[in-house]
Amino acid sequence: MKTFRRTKIIATLGPACEAPETLEKLLRAGADVVRLNFSHGSAEEHQARAELVRDIARRLGTHVGILADLQGPKIRVACFKGGKVTLQDGQSFDLDTALPHDDGDATQVGCSYEALPRDVKAGDKLLLNDGLIELKVKAVAGTRVHCVVTSGGVLSDHKGINKQGGGLSAPALTDKDRADLRTAVMIGADYLAISFPRSKYDILEARTLLRSEGSDMGIVAKIERADAIAKGVIEEIIEASDAIMVARGDLGVEIGDALLPHEQKRLIRLARQHNKVAITATQMMESMIENPQPTRAEVSDVANAVLDGTDAVMLSAETAAGRFPDRAVAAMARVCLEAEKYPRMRQSNHRNDQRFHKIDEAIAMSAMYIANHLPVRAIGALTETGHTPLWMSRISSGIPIFALTAHEKTCRRVTLLRGVYPISFSETGISDHAVLNKAIVQEFLDRKLVTQDDLVILTKGDLTGHSGATNALKISSVRDVLATAA
Ligand code: PGA
Ligand code: MN
Repeated sequence: MKTFRRTKIIATLGPACEAPETLEKLLRAGADVVRLNFSHGSAEEHQARAELVRDIARRLGTHVGILADLQGPKIRVACFKGGKVTLQDGQSFDLDTALPHDDGDATQVGCSYEALPRDVKAGDKLLLNDGLIELKVKAVAGTRVHCVVTSGGVLSDHKGINKQGGGLSAPALTDKDRADLRTAVMIGADYLAISFPRSKYDILEARTLLRSEGSDMGIVAKIERADAIAKGVIEEIIEASDAIMVARGDLGVEIGDALLPHEQKRLIRLARQHNKVAITATQMMESMIENPQPTRAEVSDVANAVLDGTDAVMLSAETAAGRFPDRAVAAMARVCLEAEKYPRMRQSNHRNDQRFHKIDEAIAMSAMYIANHLPVRAIGALTETGHTPLWMSRISSGIPIFALTAHEKTCRRVTLLRGVYPISFSETGISDHAVLNKAIVQEFLDRKLVTQDDLVILTKGDLTGHSGATNALKISSVRDVLATAA
């Protein structure tokens, strides 16, 4: 019987995987969700990519989720007269919000973030180009921030600016983001990623905008600001979101790289405790942008994210702009599968000490407790919105959770959940439970997911077709289910 990879893979789309054949290879290699990166490309390009992905997925008989990732208020330097400059250690260099956009040179550069002079003070450390260049603020005068270069290098147009320790306080949704949000709704994306949220209010604002566009798509909060991980703040962000992304690129610049491994573990644990989803992102297979094989360190990084309990691991430039996009996905897939064999991955103390508030939640928890203590082959959760499989998947287990749903949208939504696999299944016209159970196990048999002798767990509601109505759990051998309905 096939072993299912539980950890999901997100592949960022871009020029390197644009060709339909390449995209198909990417999906065949195991990409469960694709990311549309709104920092690059036009609305038309994103829409065309989304349509192509769905066409291919349909042809392959699978479901692929779409994550639309907003650019957010990334603060950047403007442009240089010659496109780039080289900064020497010890020289002075100014950032000036009043400097014309294209007038940068080796002594100064513009910046469109007008609050910059208010947000920094003498002594602050500014990190440019993902930390490759360091500036120390000497003084602020009007629109000008006087700095000294403490770690020089080549600085080119539009490179990002971060402040160590956080505190650059642009609101998370720019005008461009609002327009892109509408594009994401129009495309029918399954998740929307909010970049640089400072607090739950940025998430709530996005939620309100989505609702006003008639969308209930899932929200991913990208955790990439030092301010966002403060105690109290992070819990509220998680509560307000459906998922978080450990956005190690920007977060690493703000808090320092050495703190990342610890924060990754803490953030993933917190998300799962709150019944939310966690994504681990950035530089996971970075060397595969150029090479057909990952480094040992990258293999370890992916495996450790799996052991930390992440729902998904993400590829960025590896698939969007790299030389070996499908091999990067394949490498991730094999590393995840192996890491999941580690025994600790099949045990759970999740919420052992808590009370449950909802019946469907209690059913989900009970199903997983049983699955981890009986030789069960598969769990089938009949679901409308995907809530039951979400709760189930917060518990570590080796047993696959099949989300059976008539809704395409729910099928795509659960693609991000660890250990959950969507199956299009319609129960319309079946009112007899024995007949319905039989239809489910027959679906399992047809897909070669179980044999006659296997034990399965099925969860559903007395009233099928209602959300939040799961109140029944059945444990049975496949053979007995078939016999009962005969
Ligand atoms: P980005 O976010 O790829 O949009 O920059 C992820 C990160 O910062 O790690
Ligand atoms: Mn980022």
